[in-house]
Amino acid sequence: MPIPTETVGSLPRPEKLQSAYEDLDQGKITFEDLQKLQDEAANDSIQRLEETGETYVNDGEQRESSFATYPITDTLAGTGLADNLAGDGQFFAIFDDGHHRQLPRLTGGPFRYKTFASEFVEKNKQIATKPVKQAVISPSMMMLLYPLEEEIEGYPREQFLDDVCDEVEKDIRQCFEAGAERVSIDFTEGRLANKNDARNPWTGKDMLQEFIDLNNRVIDRFSPEERKNMGIHTCPGGDNDSVHSKEVPYEKLLTKMFQLNVGYFLIQCASEDDKESVYKLVGENSRDDADGVPQVCFIGVINPLSPEVETAEEVKDRLVAAAKHIPVERLGATDDCGFSPFSRDLKPAHGSPDFARDIAMQKISNRVEGARMASEELGV
Ligand SMILES: [Zn+2]
Repeated sequence: MPIPTETVGSLPRPEKLQSAYEDLDQGKITFEDLQKLQDEAANDSIQRLEETGETYVNDGEQRESSFATYPITDTLAGTGLADNLAGDGQFFAIFDDGHHRQLPRLTGGPFRYKTFASEFVEKNKQIATKPVKQAVISPSMMMLLYPLEEEIEGYPREQFLDDVCDEVEKDIRQCFEAGAERVSIDFTEGRLANKNDARNPWTGKDMLQEFIDLNNRVIDRFSPEERKNMGIHTCPGGDNDSVHSKEVPYEKLLTKMFQLNVGYFLIQCASEDDKESVYKLVGENSRDDADGVPQVCFIGVINPLSPEVETAEEVKDRLVAAAKHIPVERLGATDDCGFSPFSRDLKPAHGSPDFARDIAMQKISNRVEGARMASEELGV
């Protein structure tokens, strides 16, 4: 079988759409007005992704406030925030360029999603002529909505975690029921968990194993047949062309991450200085049999934070090099991250989000072509 390809999830949102999110916050337009522009951008994303030759398509998360907050708020500024949440939660991450992203804070129970990703799948299925994928957020990210130390009166942490697991399970199941063929879980907090950033206390609490165990609580509710099409995405962040945890030694994550009983992983690698050691760690730690499913390792061969377009030849070379360490029947090709995980992203290294959108399509096309060339060279 040729080397499979898959995107992570997001594409840069057109400038017009980014402004509309702000206009909604300022009461200048209605949610219906915003939805019209989201639908337009989603149609364009799907059409252009289909032209790249990518296997699975999606809307590039044009309808989402962010990869992490789509279930609980309509905009990053908190318009349409779900019940029992306030805007002033923990930092999710502080990025290298100094900007940060903050999560809402849970104020009481019960915790419930207001938007499930299946809503997007349903809409995308009506437009797409190719199979559809959808990215969802992890239980371990949602876990950070609960205060780090204190207990919320009347809503113990354990009860909250039970609710989180139920909501995430429902999110994934509904995506499959709506017709998604692949569902990947974003797990960017995995590498960040070992950052020990004093400005961001949760990153100093050694929570990686706790994250993995919680995520497996949900993953293990699915059959091997379902888990074959469930993935995990890891990266050191990607927002405003900046990262949050690239300096954290990758082996801390890669020696543990494959405990997650999913059938595939979307693994950042193109932006690593030492790619060879990543291929090696992935080869050594990924499993042939994760409770009934082989773990297919999609290696990041495209850096979405750089405007420089990788050639198909470069992609091919990276995959051929990776195949020395990862069994080729468990090797795939992906991008290091989504191209714009948050709905406000100026893509400064690119000059503008609209230009970054064009660049993203070129990069994806070259990845698809590079994977084809590598398959040919490797005889698969
Ligand atoms: Zn990512």
